[in-house]
Amino acid sequence: MVRMTVLASGSRGNSTVVSSSRTRILVDAGVSCRELFKRMQAAGEDPRTLDAILITHEHQDHVQGLAVTARKLGVPVYFTEATHRAWIRWITPRKRMTYAEWLAERKQQAEARAVAPLNPAMEDREAFDEEHDALASEAEKAKADPALLPAVEFFSAGEEFCIGDIAVTPFTIPHDAADPVGFVFEAEGLRIGLATDLGYMPPNAAIRLRRCDVLMIESNHDLDMLRDGPYPWSVKQRVMSRVGHLSNNAAAEFLEKSYDGQAAYVILAHLSESNNLPELARVSAEHALRDRMSLLGNRVLLATQDQPMASILL
Ligand SMILES: [Zn+2]
Ligand SMILES: [Zn+2]
Repeated sequence: MVRMTVLASGSRGNSTVVSSSRTRILVDAGVSCRELFKRMQAAGEDPRTLDAILITHEHQDHVQGLAVTARKLGVPVYFTEATHRAWIRWITPRKRMTYAEWLAERKQQAEARAVAPLNPAMEDREAFDEEHDALASEAEKAKADPALLPAVEFFSAGEEFCIGDIAVTPFTIPHDAADPVGFVFEAEGLRIGLATDLGYMPPNAAIRLRRCDVLMIESNHDLDMLRDGPYPWSVKQRVMSRVGHLSNNAAAEFLEKSYDGQAAYVILAHLSESNNLPELARVSAEHALRDRMSLLGNRVLLATQDQPMASILL
């Protein structure tokens, strides 16, 4: 059985669980660890069973709870290298360290740990240190190195890899982050596609999103609401730009012209709270899908900011 649960979606935090019978992946950790666990429990998902965390890009609404959650669960975090680098810069802003220096320091620490003790006195000392380390609180460790993660794995856009029995294909999306990606997940013969935070739908992404059983795409803003809304002009321009966010119109255009109509569920995600209304997004998508909606196909669902969605079971 394949299952998908959107825990949060929007500019105040994004996180989704994708799981097969054997493997569970958290996509983005954009709300606090406490909130994430609360929402998982409310949705009937056990946080302790997560196998990995996957990051789409380094914006705060996708990584807010990442470090604490990864450390608490002891799971590896998958990034592209450029996203990891940008995340390190974001989380350690005052530490004037280049990425190369950071890597060198990490290597030194690992080597220091690997050196065998030379005499019993040293061994005692190490035992003491280890105990001390174990006692050091989460907060102290985080203070010493807020970027500390149990393990980091790198992937590259366009290159498929596996986590357990889930095949993951990351693909490049146009957005103003270091190396943003969308994902397609495949397990047990089923396919789930996720693409939020994109200024427009490029052909390469549209192709990746074919043959999906569940499709989650951004429907960020209504253009008129954005134009007349409260944002300063510079922010409006950013949102509307080719590396901003997908409008209801652009999502509808994709659904009408490029999408193959194969999904059982189409989830509209990352809706703006200032520049959109759920009903506007829904009407726009449903109009685009008008000839293809049925009891079993192309059911339109809306992901929300403040509550987890009911899990989708496939
Ligand atoms: Zn973003
Ligand atoms: Zn976002």
